Amino acid sequence: MSTALPKPLVFIISAPSGSGKSTLVNELLQLVDDLDFSISYTTRPPRGSEANAKQYYFISREEFERMVQADEFLEYADVFGNYYGTARLFLQEAERKRRDLLLDIDVQGAAQIQRKLPDAISIFILPPDQKTLEWRLRKRSEDREEVIQRRLITASREIWNYDKYDYILVNDRLEESVEILEGIVRAERLRRLARPLSGEESARVAAVERCRLQNARERVQPILASFRGAAGSGKV
Ligand code: ADP
Ligand code: 5GP
Repeated sequence: MSTALPKPLVFIISAPSGSGKSTLVNELLQLVDDLDFSISYTTRPPRGSEANAKQYYFISREEFERMVQADEFLEYADVFGNYYGTARLFLQEAERKRRDLLLDIDVQGAAQIQRKLPDAISIFILPPDQKTLEWRLRKRSEDREEVIQRRLITASREIWNYDKYDYILVNDRLEESVEILEGIVRAERLRRLARPLSGEESARVAAVERCRLQNARERVQPILASFRGAAGSGKV
């Protein structure tokens, strides 16, 4: 039976590359019903086992620019020298089907969405520290060394944008992180209900409160510090 609720929610997830965002998003989509993943358009070539219309729609720069001219994107940005964009169509479809929508986008895109859709729920994923991020990027073995270095430098800038998000999720132990992410989606769905919550429901909402920005600031400080020595910092 469908559990779709009246007003579709839009979840934005951002993270420095290598933090584990794709891993977490894939797990989340297995666990939660009525949640669509917005497949972005990109001009970057596919990596590893990526397939067109699965992780992304892989298109040429010319086609991307045509879509920009035709105002087909809700937001788009240049990330690592390639264009990435969220098609308006995905939001329209989610609204029509009464399904919630998950956007995996960078901090520039998140800022654009937050302006256009102020009710969107934003989640920033952080690695436990800089060394772990570096290790995960290498472990993934998808990028050349110079790309890994570029991703690390970009990460050291991007992390400072954590305070523009509603929730902060430090992806340390995978199982625990998946549980928290699922908890955030379920808690936000409960908060949307126009009725008093049961004791169990209130407990679920309360359980993710520790990841709210105002409650996570202190936990983020050592993570930021680990990046300070490693590469240049500053807001993007
Ligand atoms: P992103 O999508 O943020 O760029 P990925 O999901 O590709 O990152 O994860 C980068 C690497 O780190 C992958 O090899 C993934 O399996 C691994 N990884 C993700 N989360 C964890 C975790 N909590 N603990 C250990 N390894 C992880
Ligand atoms: P990757 O090339 O590693 O898949 O993604 C690089 C970055 O682009 C990630 O931070 C990812 O969240 C971001 N990204 C993916 N799709 C979009 C999109 O549609 N819009 C924006 N602004 N960023 C995106």
